[in-house]
Amino acid sequence: MTAQIINGKELAYQLRMKMKEEVSTLKNEGIIPHLTVVLVGDNPASKSYVNGKKRASSETNISSEIIELPVETTEEELLNVIERLNNDQKVHGILVQLPLPEHIQEQKIIEAIRPEKDVDGFHPINIGRMMTGQDTLLPCTPYGIIKMLQENNIQIEGKHAVIIGRSNIVGKPVGQLLLNENATVTYCHSRTKNLKEITNQADILIVAIGIPNVITAEHVKDGAVVIDVGINRLDDGSLTGDVNFDSALTKAAYITPVPKGVGPMTIAMLLENTIKAAKGLAHS
Ligand code: NAD
Repeated sequence: MTAQIINGKELAYQLRMKMKEEVSTLKNEGIIPHLTVVLVGDNPASKSYVNGKKRASSETNISSEIIELPVETTEEELLNVIERLNNDQKVHGILVQLPLPEHIQEQKIIEAIRPEKDVDGFHPINIGRMMTGQDTLLPCTPYGIIKMLQENNIQIEGKHAVIIGRSNIVGKPVGQLLLNENATVTYCHSRTKNLKEITNQADILIVAIGIPNVITAEHVKDGAVVIDVGINRLDDGSLTGDVNFDSALTKAAYITPVPKGVGPMTIAMLLENTIKAAKGLAHS
């Protein structure tokens, strides 16, 4: 079987073009969606992610700014910046780029962001609303994965989805969103025994581990949908996923590549959340 490759880059572009139209309609109503990204320190990977977010915003006519703070910024100073953004009516979305320097407690920062402006969807209030199936700002990568499945007409209801990875930003929430869509969900992680036995039962296999090429055809059931969330930079500077693409391709019905898979969808969902936040705040 040759798998169909899901082109996340192309899909994200199409979604951005639709959003652009929505943004111009909002502008006619006097609403200009605005995203503020806060970057602390000079981690090169974070810088490149933040610039990607700004580029995608401007392509969609969403106004955006990056606040760059030095690595020695204190937790209190960062909390003050967030407080100011929380109270700034022009700012609809606030994203603090992670990871933060070690002297700053990430969870404290996440919880300081006003939930209605939390376009990363990491605030416990938004997570709780997602858990209870309420309309809310959803975490971008999991949301992007669901969108990818839906836009490709891949059935979720009644399917067995196996998630490898249980992080708060990918593994756990993507399982919850799949459950909300009526999948049967199994979580695997570093302590799971008989991983292959479980992944071979997956109609939909979501891989979010952070180890290059660790999942191969042996883990994949014939005809499965394989979503590779991993982004790993190799010594030669190239990017690769957690799934050995050429190997899994021989068994899967659908597969996402890295790059041009889940990554661009994550950014597209950030923009969608910014528009949603702008509408929500304008009408509140
Ligand atoms: P994490 O390190 O927080 O979590 C990794 C998970 O993998 C853990 O739950 C761990 O239990 C599990 N794990 C580790 N080794 C394992 C093994 N041998 N077998 C089974 N499970 C194992 O990572 P994360 O933040 O969830 O990110 C995972 C990957 O996804 C990384 O490569 C990251 O860069 C990437 N990522 C991509 C996007 C995107 O937009 N595409 C967004 C976020 C993260």
